[in-house]
Amino acid sequence: MNHTSCVIIGAGHAGLAMSRCLSAYSIDHVILERGEIANSWKNERWDSLRLLTPNWQARLPGFAYDGDDPDGFMTMPETIGFIERYAALISAPVRPNTPVTSVVRDDAGYRIEAGGEQWSSDALVIASGACNLPSLPTVAASMPPGIDMISTLDYRNPEQLQPGGVLVVGASASGLQIADEIHRSGRPVTLAVGEHVRLPRVYRGRDILWWMQASGVLDERYDEIDDIVRARNVPSPQLVGTPERRTLDLNYLSGLGVQLRGRLSGCNDGKLLFSGSLRNVCELADLKMKRLLNTVDEWAEEQGRAAEFDPPERHPPTEIEDSPPLTLNLDNSGIRSIVWATGYRPDFSWLQIPVLDRKGYLRHDGGIVADSPGLYCLGATFLRRRKSSFIHGAEDDATDLAAHLASFLGATGEA
Ligand SMILES: Cc1cc2nc3c(=O)[nH]c(=O)nc-3n(C[C@H](O)[C@H](O)[C@H](O)COP(=O)(O)OP(=O)(O)OC[C@H]3O[C@@H](n4cnc5c(N)ncnc54)[C@H](O)[C@@H]3O)c2cc1C
Repeated sequence: MNHTSCVIIGAGHAGLAMSRCLSAYSIDHVILERGEIANSWKNERWDSLRLLTPNWQARLPGFAYDGDDPDGFMTMPETIGFIERYAALISAPVRPNTPVTSVVRDDAGYRIEAGGEQWSSDALVIASGACNLPSLPTVAASMPPGIDMISTLDYRNPEQLQPGGVLVVGASASGLQIADEIHRSGRPVTLAVGEHVRLPRVYRGRDILWWMQASGVLDERYDEIDDIVRARNVPSPQLVGTPERRTLDLNYLSGLGVQLRGRLSGCNDGKLLFSGSLRNVCELADLKMKRLLNTVDEWAEEQGRAAEFDPPERHPPTEIEDSPPLTLNLDNSGIRSIVWATGYRPDFSWLQIPVLDRKGYLRHDGGIVADSPGLYCLGATFLRRRKSSFIHGAEDDATDLAAHLASFLGATGEA
């Protein structure tokens, strides 16, 4: 049995950021990683993906993007390189190919089984990612045989799909990017659209994430907003990172010829059923985008900086055909594949401590798992701040949690 003060599970950017912060307190620790450093970016993303956060925003504790394209967006190999360089820079104590299969708690602390090794620790940080499994709607189980189904975790490129039309389910960042790519590959695409967050890529001459960062929106804290449960379930914004800083929204896709339908609500005898709420969800997304743009306009005015930027812009509403069909017969439609872009969920199947809620998510207060002293988590949506699930959001969260963990351990040392 190996012992260390703290075990971190996962060598993604969040686990590495935590490692850097624990080192600053001289807290001995290891990072147990089931695969390699940056494993999710290496094995669970599609080929053409680029970060939707601009390079100037790529930052981890003690490390930041220093290339010559601050307004660009990293490809997957560049993202992996960025995280690997960070791990090397901080000499992160990563044990690769060490999958954690069991975690229990006893009077002495935590006991971890991982890849044939046994560890005990006083504290434990779960940084195993928020996107380990596809979050599939129940309707996925009623699709007829003969239709290929793939989730965004396994999707790599359009060549993987059998010839014919494609239904993409989900209209957040992943769904829109994949629908766009498949359509460009020459296949007819139908997109099932539920609740979504519409954003322009560039607003008044600046990246929308610049506005959200400068005006403080991304720094909003989990304990300061009205409904944190709701905020943690907001879908990812419809953004794509491209060299030309293109806006990717439903108007753009329908302009290309992608068919927009409502949320996929059922499938009976090979007939797909779509919700009639398409117009409503689009109006709501248009309204929320307008509100956000008003907020950043007000911020610019209050700061006396309005003249620095292009004038305020307003965007045309999302265009929806008059009566979008509510059903689609799979046989006649030519649809042969479905891509589920319906979100992700974490996998805690190895965690044998009663700290999960009935939906299988960790019960925590800003990353501190109160029901199990010494247990922390990092990397989840809106963990402590709106930016928590972004790469640059790990710095503040890891700093806060490391301070709490250090005081839990009674550790002394330099912060
Ligand atoms: C499609 C997609 C696009 C995204 N785009 C952006 C973007 O543009 N910009 C941005 O800032 N963020 C983006 N994100 C969000 C975020 O950066 C990622 O979710 C990020 O991977 C989260 O970092 P993490 O370190 O918490 O988790 P991960 O990177 O998933 O790291 C978790 C690590 O834990 C390991 N692990 C899991 N289970 C175990 C186990 N049982 N034992 C041992 N190890 C285990 C995994 O192998 C993995 O290496 C995107 C996310 C997705 C899914």
